[in-house]
Amino acid sequence: MENATQHIRDIDIKSGYRDYFLNILQKLVETETPPADPASHKALFSILEKELEGLGYEVSMYNGVKSGGQLFAKPKAQKTGCYQLLLGHIDTVWPTDTLQKMPFRNEDNTLTGPGVYDMKAGVAMMLTALKVIYDHDDVEPVVTPILFLNSDEESGSVESASRIKLLARAMNRVLVLEPSLDPDGKIKTRRKGVGHFDVTIKGVSSHAGIEPEKGRSAILELSYLIQKLHQLNDPENGISVNVGTIDGGISTNVVAPESRASVDVRVRTKADAKRLTNEITAMESDTEGVTLEIKGGFRRPPLVQNKRNRALWQAAKEVGDQLGLELTEGTSGGGSDGSYTSLFAATLDGLGAVGDGAHSPTERVFLNETLQRIPLIVNLLLLPPLNEQG
Ligand SMILES: [Zn+2]
Repeated sequence: MENATQHIRDIDIKSGYRDYFLNILQKLVETETPPADPASHKALFSILEKELEGLGYEVSMYNGVKSGGQLFAKPKAQKTGCYQLLLGHIDTVWPTDTLQKMPFRNEDNTLTGPGVYDMKAGVAMMLTALKVIYDHDDVEPVVTPILFLNSDEESGSVESASRIKLLARAMNRVLVLEPSLDPDGKIKTRRKGVGHFDVTIKGVSSHAGIEPEKGRSAILELSYLIQKLHQLNDPENGISVNVGTIDGGISTNVVAPESRASVDVRVRTKADAKRLTNEITAMESDTEGVTLEIKGGFRRPPLVQNKRNRALWQAAKEVGDQLGLELTEGTSGGGSDGSYTSLFAATLDGLGAVGDGAHSPTERVFLNETLQRIPLIVNLLLLPPLNEQG
């Protein structure tokens, strides 16, 4: 690989690029982007559009309905027909005005603010990496970098998933700048598939005092079902099943005519996703006169360690070694859009910020550790095409 690879070894991350990264990140964090808030998403996209145009990129926007849509960017002067994708999202899980409680701060090597770790720092890393390449006339990626950012990832990528899959088919490789795993910054080479199921149980109502025998409680039936669902948990094989919310009934003196539950299921393999979908949707009521309806399935497939994903991981490890970064890998229990691209192209996920506390009030980024990953992204972008298929 050494000969075929162009390298930028000495990127002056400590001075100029550090400031660039921090400036852009502050703008991104201080422009809040709650889930399903199209106006705020568009405001952030327009900051990025201006920035990307300054880096020689041409930006197109796709409209959303419940989200601010997606941003697609490619170099104005396109040199090759071989592409790689920088993939990420600009929405956060945080409601408007979280900034007042969690302002953007940079203290003691720690950055805070809503969405700073998941994944506004990752977006700022993309821009900084593209700026490094833009500033260095002596290097030119052989595989053209394309950038795609959605604004509905935290709500399941409903409006963007089909476009992401389509785009992935044309890519030699996909770099997902979601946060890395654990405070030591593992790269995510596996992700669990995420399934969601909705349960509706219909019983028969009656007066709980006068003629309870005529009733069939949908709540009692739900209690049986919860037991059956939780029995599917198999931590050794990476399977988790969680009944996350339940509700039902009308009043204490009425035998409940209806109850509902929502269920989260996570698996490591496609075979488990299929098996659990079949098992869960085939569950039946134990009580005569009570009906059970279970709808749902797996939206995000698991990100698996196939041949081409392993080849990209190996390439990243080698680049890391050359930069003096010892990269380690891990499995994430959460889903990302990398699970979609992995169906069609070599995908490496968790290449974004090093930090901790995604989706929690302790969300934070470790500045120096994150800055060290920018040369990694730059040099990954400079790699020749990967040939490994599979
Ligand atoms: Zn994320």
